[in-house]
Amino acid sequence: MTAPARPDDCLFCKIVAGDVPAEIVRADETTVAFRDIHPQAPTHVLVVPRSHYADAAELAHHEPAGLADVLRAAADIAEREGLTEGYRAVFNTGAGAGQTVFHAHLHVLGGRSLQWPPG
Ligand code: 5GP
Ligand code: ZN
Repeated sequence: MTAPARPDDCLFCKIVAGDVPAEIVRADETTVAFRDIHPQAPTHVLVVPRSHYADAAELAHHEPAGLADVLRAAADIAEREGLTEGYRAVFNTGAGAGQTVFHAHLHVLGGRSLQWPPG
C-alpha cells in the first residue's frame, strides 16, 4: 500500500528527509531513529517510520510490517545502548495522551529505573 504524501509541515518527515538536523542513531530502509531533543531518560530515542502516518494505529492499519520494523529497530537500539535492565517502548497516541508530533513515533526510554504505571 502506498504511504500518504508527506505533509510539508511535518517535523519528523523533515528529519527523515535530512531537512531538519537530528542526532540519528540508526537508519534502515523503512525506519529512522534519533535522540529526543528533550530526553526523559539517559537513553531516549525516537524511532519513526520513513512513511508518514499520523500515529501508530494508522501505521498498523496501512503498513503493519512497518510497525514491526519500528519495534525491531527499538530492540536493536536497546541492545546497542546497553539497556540490559530493560527499556520502555511507548506510542503516545492522541493529544490527550501527550502526542505532540503527528507522525507515528516510538519512544525508546531506558538507562534509569522506570515506574509503572506511567504518569
Ligand atoms: P510526543 O509528545 O508526540 O509523543 O513526542 C514528540 C517528541 O518529539 C517529544 O518527546 C519531543 O521532545 C520530541 N521533539 C520535538 N521536537 C523535536 C526536534 O526538533 N528534534 C528532536 N530530536 N526531537 C523533537
Ligand atoms: Zn511526517
